[in-house]
Amino acid sequence: MAERELSEGGAARIKVATESVKCAGCGANMVFDADLQVLYCPHCGSKKELEVGQTAKEKDILEGLSADAFWKADETVVFRCDNCGAKIVLNKGETATVCPFCGTAHVEKTEELAGLKPDAVLPFAFGQDKALDYSKNWAKKRFFAPRKFKRNLDAENINGVYAPCFTFDSSTYSTYRGRIGKHYTTTVGSGKNQRTVTRTEWKNISGNYSDFFDDIVITAGDKCGQKELDNISPFDTNAGIEYKEQYLLGFMAYHYDHELSECWDSAKKKMDELIRKRILGKYNYDVVDYLNVSTTHEKVKYKYVMIPVYVGNFTFKEKLYNFFVNGTTGKTFGKYPKSPLKVGGLILLGAIAFAVIAYFLSKG
Ligand SMILES: [Zn+2]
Ligand SMILES: [Zn+2]
Repeated sequence: MAERELSEGGAARIKVATESVKCAGCGANMVFDADLQVLYCPHCGSKKELEVGQTAKEKDILEGLSADAFWKADETVVFRCDNCGAKIVLNKGETATVCPFCGTAHVEKTEELAGLKPDAVLPFAFGQDKALDYSKNWAKKRFFAPRKFKRNLDAENINGVYAPCFTFDSSTYSTYRGRIGKHYTTTVGSGKNQRTVTRTEWKNISGNYSDFFDDIVITAGDKCGQKELDNISPFDTNAGIEYKEQYLLGFMAYHYDHELSECWDSAKKKMDELIRKRILGKYNYDVVDYLNVSTTHEKVKYKYVMIPVYVGNFTFKEKLYNFFVNGTTGKTFGKYPKSPLKVGGLILLGAIAFAVIAYFLSKG
């Protein structure tokens, strides 16, 4: 098996050994090179064009899951990290040797099936070297980060992992009823008692509201959660193409933690919030007494998409930090260690500033 670490040039050095697609020239195993968007042989440097992907189709949520919605046992293999619990899906025949989330080698093959098969994939748009550059640039701008974090980040810490997401489309029809208020000031009393007071003019509102939502993205994994995902968004999920094994060669995929129905509930919550905001946006108000909205969803479509995320892991003073790089735009977000010296310094500065101000106030 060819270790990805041997790869040169733009190919990511991800610790996945693959034997799925053999090089026609030398028989070694090929990997997906995200910089060149080809299959690449790390052994002899041969390249092979990717198969052209079709635009991914969306599915009707009312249709049940058919047998072909699931991975077959001979397609993939699931690894589990004993240290942090992360579950990784790889093409059959590939081996994960390191956990992308905690960086340890405690990854073991399981007998588990991988579950739902992705309908679509948004392929990685660049390789690991570039992901490292984005991470370093991001780290450099973290004022409180210790020098060790800024300087010691390297390819070891960055791994390409497809994050499992569901996208939902929905046509919504809502009826609403509520009461909103607008503040105004008025003068009351007379003579010495004359003063200005603020009062509220209340108004009942009701009506219908319809909208269309396209590709509401809900993450199905906890290790790269909704907050992390929202912070490195957008991902052009509409450009997702039909899933093919070739995009996973040498990369990993995270096994989902939440089922379709659970994610659909989350999507409805997200849409409900947007609908409320958009209804209220039609009015001029200062306060909302109440707003009851009842919404029905029609023509709901979904797709299960793998989106490309470089996962960074960094251990500092025995604590683990994860950060995430959007594999199409480079946008980075996540946790990082904070230097006690820098934080302490700032608190000290604040205390000095406070003392100085207090001193002058006491004299004045
Ligand atoms: Zn070769
Ligand atoms: Zn782990």
